[in-house]
Amino acid sequence: MPELPEVETVRRGLAPAMEGARFAKVEVRRGDLRWPLPRDFARRLHGQTVTGLGRRAKYLLADLSSGDILLMHLGMSGSFHVFQNSGGKKLGAYHHERKRHVTHDHVVFHMSSGNIITFNDPRRFGSMKIVPRAKLEAEPLLARLGPEPLGNAFDAAMLAQACHGKKTSLKAALSDQRVVAGLGNIYVCEALHRAGLSPKRMAATIADRSGAPNERAERLVDGIKVVLNEAIRDGGSSLRDHKLTDGELGMFQHNFRVYDREGEKCRTPGCRGIVKRMVQNGRSTFYCPVCQK
Ligand SMILES: [Zn+2]
Repeated sequence: MPELPEVETVRRGLAPAMEGARFAKVEVRRGDLRWPLPRDFARRLHGQTVTGLGRRAKYLLADLSSGDILLMHLGMSGSFHVFQNSGGKKLGAYHHERKRHVTHDHVVFHMSSGNIITFNDPRRFGSMKIVPRAKLEAEPLLARLGPEPLGNAFDAAMLAQACHGKKTSLKAALSDQRVVAGLGNIYVCEALHRAGLSPKRMAATIADRSGAPNERAERLVDGIKVVLNEAIRDGGSSLRDHKLTDGELGMFQHNFRVYDREGEKCRTPGCRGIVKRMVQNGRSTFYCPVCQK
């Protein structure tokens, strides 16, 4: 499942193909994605210019000249591919799964620039939705999302307030999209490791009784920002390396410190711990029992 850095990498890969271009033709080959695409989906996009491609948590938001916003989510297995003209040279593959079958190309955007963008999604947990810009704030998919972890507003005070009094583990709290948006299993594990905090630690212990942040909250916010920025930087370099080939992008390029490294040496400088795996809320947590307290 792609997390924030992968979605940001996809956004950066798609932006040059979409921004400033018009939807010359929109093909819906299979409309039953996570929920059905509306009947007027193609008609509402047709002829509109994409004025900007943004991101909120794991959603891509294409601003359209009509005043609508096209919301796109990759789900579990979604990917975008950019081609130059029909059957032409592939410019890039913005996704995580290694195989792509054209039978899973469910939505195809023919842009006025000549670029063809396909949305491929074997498991069809991905989704698209058109929302008028004026109604974006009330949009249920976005309304309950917590702060953007890389935004300026997200700091130790905000995270401590959100965790104040919480009887859940830090792992569970950080995985909750209402506490902070866009983190999933991988980057929660990595951020806790960077911060030197145990995934089992109670979330409430990063705040004092009044909800004010302590030094753990500061370390955790730093850890979150550092791992996300590093992953986005790695995604960016994979984008450059593979842009003109049939390249793979995203999490495969990233060098994790604990995630999926059970039994291997901890990568914290000076730590002699061995990475352990445990199950929390049905998901694997990877951590170092020596340097994460
Ligand atoms: Zn360690």
